[in-house]
Amino acid sequence: MKRKWLFFLCCLLPLLGCSAEVAHSAAGIACDTVVTVTAYAPQQTVDETLRVIADYEALLSKTVEGSDIRRLNHAEGAPVEVHPETAALLRLAVEIGEESEGAFDVTIAPLSAMWDFTSDDPVPPDPDALTAAAALVDYRNIVIDGNTVTLLNGAEIDLGGIAKGYIADRVAAFLRQKGVRSACINMGGNVVTIGTKPNGDPWTIGIRDPNGTPEQSEEVLELGEAAVVTSGNYERFFIKDGVRYHHILDPKTGMPVSTGLASVTVVGSRSDLCDALSTACFVLGEERSRTLLDRYGVRAIFLYSDGTRIAYPEP
Ligand code: ADP
Ligand code: MG
Repeated sequence: MKRKWLFFLCCLLPLLGCSAEVAHSAAGIACDTVVTVTAYAPQQTVDETLRVIADYEALLSKTVEGSDIRRLNHAEGAPVEVHPETAALLRLAVEIGEESEGAFDVTIAPLSAMWDFTSDDPVPPDPDALTAAAALVDYRNIVIDGNTVTLLNGAEIDLGGIAKGYIADRVAAFLRQKGVRSACINMGGNVVTIGTKPNGDPWTIGIRDPNGTPEQSEEVLELGEAAVVTSGNYERFFIKDGVRYHHILDPKTGMPVSTGLASVTVVGSRSDLCDALSTACFVLGEERSRTLLDRYGVRAIFLYSDGTRIAYPEP
């Protein structure tokens, strides 16, 4: 009997070992973006990550019926009990709001809702309407008490600048918990890696050339376990009368930020943080971002439309 078990194990173990060395991928559309997960794990485990993403989208999206954020935005100022993870993410969002002096502000919803980047004939919103909506934007209107959240003064939330980063981290946590030691998750420019490639080689993560096609990289980062998040003016935009209008907005005016920057890439260990910081740094510009980047111990690469590249801190 014992010998039979031994024989069984001897056959099975090498097979398990082999399957862990094979990369499997899953791809889909979630959170309005393309998601790809590649992991040295069974296909079923990789496929399950798409369900994990869908579950988080159902919690954090402002459009999905019944989501925590939609319930909050429709509560007309009444306190709302949210999932502990939603409360924690909102705490982080408010913290980055404070640390960036409001450059990052998840109460941007009244402004972001006025910009339609998908229309066949997009137009910039009426300036007076933008000014009126900007008065509602202030992260200090989010009051969090345990898992109860209250939105004051007509505030509404849009987690577009942080949710994908958070979800990418959760996918990594899910895979780690399944014992995966090598994986790369990409949620529309929010990249999280686990370990290295199985042979010990680093992951290669391209930063898109803002003036090139989506496939063209301006530079390629070689990294072990890391989070790399890029915010760019080429993700969602339209051009009207020669002006490029994109989706990263100045919370004070509601207009797309124009500092000459085309993208900011933040490299750190937590993708939620890097996501919020890449958006914040895009709004702040390179010089004003330094304190924020130091505060969180992350580095950033600023690419300008004219081709200038600045890395902070300098290598
Ligand atoms: P992407 O969503 O393309 O990865 P970002 O992470 O920079 O890019 O997030 C941009 C999104 O964040 C916008 O679509 C909008 O939902 C929201 N947003 C825009 N401006 C701000 C801002 N100043 N602070 C916080 N969120 C913002
Ligand atoms: Mg962001």
